[in-house]
Amino acid sequence: MAVTASLTFLGAAGTVTGSRFLLEQDGTRVLVDCGLFQGLRELRRRNWEPPPVDPGHLDAVVLTHAHLDHCGYLPRLVRDGFAGPVYASAATCDLTAVVLRDSARLQEEDARYAAEHGFSKHARPEPLYGVEEAEAAITQLRPLPFGCASEVASGATLTLSPAGHILGSSVVHLVLDGRTVAFSGDLGRPHHPLLRAPGPPPEADCYVVESTYGDRAHAEPTPRLADAVRRTVARGGVVLVPAFAVDRTEVLLMELRRLMGSGEVPRVPVYVDSPMALETLSLYRRAIREASPEIRPDLPDGVDLFDPGHLVEARSVEDSKRLNDPGHPCVIVSASGMATGGRVVHHLAGLLPDPRNTVVLVGFQAAGTRGRDLAQGATQLKIHGRYVRVRAQVVECQEFSVHADADETLEWLRSAPREPDAAFVVHGEEAASAALAERIRTELGWVAVVPRMGERIRLG
Ligand SMILES: [Zn+2]
Repeated sequence: MAVTASLTFLGAAGTVTGSRFLLEQDGTRVLVDCGLFQGLRELRRRNWEPPPVDPGHLDAVVLTHAHLDHCGYLPRLVRDGFAGPVYASAATCDLTAVVLRDSARLQEEDARYAAEHGFSKHARPEPLYGVEEAEAAITQLRPLPFGCASEVASGATLTLSPAGHILGSSVVHLVLDGRTVAFSGDLGRPHHPLLRAPGPPPEADCYVVESTYGDRAHAEPTPRLADAVRRTVARGGVVLVPAFAVDRTEVLLMELRRLMGSGEVPRVPVYVDSPMALETLSLYRRAIREASPEIRPDLPDGVDLFDPGHLVEARSVEDSKRLNDPGHPCVIVSASGMATGGRVVHHLAGLLPDPRNTVVLVGFQAAGTRGRDLAQGATQLKIHGRYVRVRAQVVECQEFSVHADADETLEWLRSAPREPDAAFVVHGEEAASAALAERIRTELGWVAVVPRMGERIRLG
């Protein structure tokens, strides 16, 4: 007798990171997203636990987009025996390759650094995975065009549509045994400066919807960035922006270009100091050049939208080290976005003690990250085993969010072709997910649930 299709929440349940959802039916197993847990130590520890499903028994993986909390576990899954295809949009495949290589390099560097300086709790700190495992995972990526139904495993049909969150980001629609599930992935906002807004959700029996900002409304854009840059430059300081390399860097550079072009802020050098951000930038430039269907049709022709006038691409480690103390007013954009790793951590160590400097936070800061500590007014920060005093100004600029807020997510769901059996609210901290689920129940009249970690539901 055939077994009913089921959906199991293996991550991003009651938390923002570690997106992993398992669809099963009669021996067919498809994993939607394969994300890293990030933030609090208890969460990060989950990356080291054996996966709850035998990777060798998975038929396929589908990725919604290339952010680390959606694709960053893939090399570990491959290391542990997953040898099947990984389906995603073409841009997601390109960006995932960049993101995984960078992630592997960072994990190796961090493990080496911790070993050399002896501040890890582990005698011999090991990386979660290395460059070799990332390269192996990259060979398993299989690009699919938007809007075409493809059989990705026996009895499982996948269709991707643009989600407007970052380049390549997709709403994932899967049909399994006649039952349909649609995953919002991370959902973009209606007014992204580069990407088209997401279309209405595809028809489905179940929605799995993100809730990063499920209890918040984005404020109208305020001139906070302009203000911060102006004031910092006036006092001879440096503006440091920890930015998610994928997309946030692009949006930020466009805004700096606008502000410097109109004279709202003085023209100072803008350094992009992240190899991953620079590779991403070239993929965005290519998508614009090739007029990819995700890109807004109304962008001006023939200009580099990402060059505010004096763009410097810091490629080598030496270039980067010089920026720990640049000695002149400038803007430094460096990853990672929550200051959990990467070159930005070295810059923080160098720049935080000087009150002339400013740290501008432009994205969601998960609990347990240095970014969140700074946002909450920390006066000291532990970096590479030492405590660093925070004297620099810290400014949060929410106008750069590339996630839909609560109203925008509800409007998106409201445009669904019909009421689903249920909506599952994931990818949010507990309060945010609960708030969005409550609004879906009261305002749309749907069944809405915040699934528990590990919860399994029947689809048939
Ligand atoms: Zn994302």
